[in-house]
Amino acid sequence: MKSSLEAPEKQISEETSATPEKTQASVIDTSKMSAGKAAALDLAESSRDPLDERGSFASNLFVGKFAFDRIFPWPEQSPEDRSAGEPFLAQLKEYLHANVNADEIDRSGEIPQKNIDDLFAMGAFAIKVPKQYGGLGLSQVNYGRAAMLLGSWDANLTALVSAHQSIGVPQPLLLFGTEEQKAKYLPRVARHEISAFALTEAHAGSDPATMSLRADPTPDGSAFIMNGEKLWCTNGLKAGVLVVMAQTPPKMVNGKERKQITAFIVEVNTPGLDMPHRCRFMGLRALYNGVVTFKDVRVPRENIIAGEGKGLKVALTTLNTGRLTIPAACVGLCKRLLEVSRKWASERVQWGVPIGQHYAIAGKIAEMAGNTFAMEAITFLTSAMVDRKAGDLRIETAMCKMWSTEMTWKIADDAMQVRGGRGYETEKSLRDRGDEPTAVERFLRDCRINTIFEGSSEIMRLFIAREALDPHLKVGGAIFNTTLPMRTRIRSIFGSGSFYSRWYPRQYARAKPGDLSKLHEQLRPHVKYGAATSKKLARGLFHSMMRFGPKLDREQLLLSRYVGVATEIFAMNATCSYAQHLINTGKPAEEILSVANYFCQSAKARIAHHFAGTSKNADARGYALVQELLGGKHEMLRTGIV
Ligand SMILES: Cc1cc2nc3c(=O)[nH]c(=O)nc-3n(C[C@H](O)[C@H](O)[C@H](O)COP(=O)(O)OP(=O)(O)OC[C@H]3O[C@@H](n4cnc5c(N)ncnc54)[C@H](O)[C@@H]3O)c2cc1C
Repeated sequence: MKSSLEAPEKQISEETSATPEKTQASVIDTSKMSAGKAAALDLAESSRDPLDERGSFASNLFVGKFAFDRIFPWPEQSPEDRSAGEPFLAQLKEYLHANVNADEIDRSGEIPQKNIDDLFAMGAFAIKVPKQYGGLGLSQVNYGRAAMLLGSWDANLTALVSAHQSIGVPQPLLLFGTEEQKAKYLPRVARHEISAFALTEAHAGSDPATMSLRADPTPDGSAFIMNGEKLWCTNGLKAGVLVVMAQTPPKMVNGKERKQITAFIVEVNTPGLDMPHRCRFMGLRALYNGVVTFKDVRVPRENIIAGEGKGLKVALTTLNTGRLTIPAACVGLCKRLLEVSRKWASERVQWGVPIGQHYAIAGKIAEMAGNTFAMEAITFLTSAMVDRKAGDLRIETAMCKMWSTEMTWKIADDAMQVRGGRGYETEKSLRDRGDEPTAVERFLRDCRINTIFEGSSEIMRLFIAREALDPHLKVGGAIFNTTLPMRTRIRSIFGSGSFYSRWYPRQYARAKPGDLSKLHEQLRPHVKYGAATSKKLARGLFHSMMRFGPKLDREQLLLSRYVGVATEIFAMNATCSYAQHLINTGKPAEEILSVANYFCQSAKARIAHHFAGTSKNADARGYALVQELLGGKHEMLRTGIV
């Protein structure tokens, strides 16, 4: 589809290459940052691959480019792929139902070894690993469907299986491993050996660039000696092999010393490696998560993944796709919570009617239904696009992770409210007194961590905003330089030859949603709204860049509203595409349209709320208040408590 909005990033990057001095480094304001923050940013930036020039459906929304044809028609799973996955998925479903006691696992804090052995035997630990290495060789969509089954049943098993293959040894090796590494490790981790991923340290959480675990080369350079400690390594206590990120000696880059982070495959039985503490949590009580200590642990050089200094890139790239497992599991959980709520809201009578007939409860269940439908749409749309290698999907996967985990927490909270006191009671207690044993409280405890690990929601928003600003940052220059007079800046926008003199007026032109003739007429207005709103988003972002210049990256709450708008537009359009696909495959159109229309209407209300907050908010006042609090003021807020 050719349009007046064609490839703005491409045009931007052409301009950038013509003026190489205008790099993002000159636009991101590092002047007032501490040396540590500036160095961390520098390292993170150097580990970041530039975004694909064509962008993706979601990334293009930020520059006012709306390409519905990138996600519609729905990328249907091929019959071959479906039938390749079907026997395994059927076996997994039956196995979970008959043999996995999620309540017992939660209460004992242990997963029976038999469950682990059986899951290995059916290939559940190597779903995407090619058959030649002992895996099932299935697609991302089939892996997502497996995660959905697991997520609907038991979060502890989901975490075990997912940490092993989404971030543990299989995924980084599939992406970056040498042939020798794949031949040596993949059959092991596919068939009998659990793996884990060790990045976090006590002082390096969201900002892994500050890690301190060291790996120093031996004098002959054949190996590295590791010293330090990792925290919260999921699966660590069951694992035979780990992916460990460590600091290797710094290198000089452009006259400046740059920290090097390197990824290693580490055998757990190497002398000096120990796991002295098992961590215990609010939920996921059977997680085999622990502290890992390294005292002169010798790791051969050939165990480096992707080369020295490439560790952060390995971690970031692994997570770009690995992040899809959690949202797929969330879809399973939300379907289950919706079912629990649906059943209870129709059975439980209070004030003379089933509680589902009270508006307050109906409203919660409607949100659950709409959001679950949209969650399935964004997650499986993105998974299908991963299978088709449809370009750079890091924005989509980050949106899936952020949006789905936050919505799941809301859904779990609402399901508890719908179940009333029974929602708060444990499954065992309900069973023991003869009531229906439904574990809403366990689901709620277990799902809370999802907005924190594998990239917290805050970090996902920063990550998405960073990519969203990228096309503009590349052009940079006078426009965003708030130290220049506004006149000069405006002249640089509308001056002849400036990129913005062409781009900016187009953000006010009528939006073109593309060919919607194959879309149900009830869905078309939602897509048209998406096209128009992406321009409004692009204008808003541009105006904020004009206002704040390089300091915009500090305006996290403002940026998060723009990220919120784009994520909702993505979810609405994925929902429309998915709804049409379901209608085409014979699902009842009336029902599909009912849920899709409800979701789109509620998403529009959230978008309006986000936009309203960009001009009217209490952000600055709130920030000042918190600095007062952090500085020790407002003592009355600390008195009168134990
Ligand atoms: C159950 C569990 C399992 C885990 N499994 C693993 C694993 O297998 N491997 C592994 O390596 N790690 C693992 N982790 C670690 C997990 O990934 C981290 O907890 C996560 O990255 C956040 O780091 P942190 O807890 O240190 O929080 P911090 O980084 O200290 O952040 C605290 C809060 O501040 C916010 N914040 C931080 N920086 C910014 C910023 N620049 N702007 C705005 N907000 C910010 C965060 O979003 C968060 O809300 C696990 C953790 C838990 C609890």
